[in-house]
Amino acid sequence: MNNFEQLGLSDSLQRAIVDLGFENPTEIQQKAIPILLEQETDLVALAQTGTGKTAAFGFPLIQKMDLSQRATQALILAPTRELCLQITNELKNYAKYDNGLRVVAIYGGASISEQAREIKKGAHIVVATPGRMQDMINRGYVDISQINYCVLDEADEMLNMGFYDDIVSILSTTPDEKRTWLFSATMPAEVARIAKKFMEEPIEITVGAKNS
Ligand code: ADP
Ligand code: MG
Repeated sequence: MNNFEQLGLSDSLQRAIVDLGFENPTEIQQKAIPILLEQETDLVALAQTGTGKTAAFGFPLIQKMDLSQRATQALILAPTRELCLQITNELKNYAKYDNGLRVVAIYGGASISEQAREIKKGAHIVVATPGRMQDMINRGYVDISQINYCVLDEADEMLNMGFYDDIVSILSTTPDEKRTWLFSATMPAEVARIAKKFMEEPIEITVGAKNS
């Protein structure tokens, strides 16, 4: 199976994929997308950089958003401002035909009140660095008490950067019933600790390095 049409993606996503010029799903996309679309499950996905992880979680996430609701339904945590912006831009491209879907980026080194204003306009998906996210929660600028999905992207990198306490604190304010999708290149002890603490019987998938 090496075609997007067989993965169960919506027509709007398939149209966006054609525009993006993606011809075939990458290995992580082939493995993760059907699982995430069909099963309400926690997921641990191990794959190197450059293997297409953003679409592996982004396509299912976009498809699962209820655009008739205004509430924030998904949180993506990523290690850096650059990655937050990159993920946000990618998701907006993927969702170009899902009219009304709002994706908002939250990161340090930029005006917090401006970000709070963006959130206030509505944000189905929030893409955030852990430090600024914690700050926004403390100030009551963002409500993640109703999210259905939490994605931890580059989990190993986030923990390397010392975000363990922020991640634990942020996840503790989300509903127990939400699904957590953890993406990482490697599985050091701290990542395993987060997985054990916040995930329930996750499905695990691993793909080889890009050039192997
Ligand atoms: P990762 O998060 O695993 O490092 P990205 O999601 O950033 O990888 O994707 C790496 C690059 O590959 C991006 O430029 C992205 O647009 C591109 N890409 C992703 N999936 C596909 C695909 N199925 N076909 C072609 N290019 C893709
Ligand atoms: Mg990535």
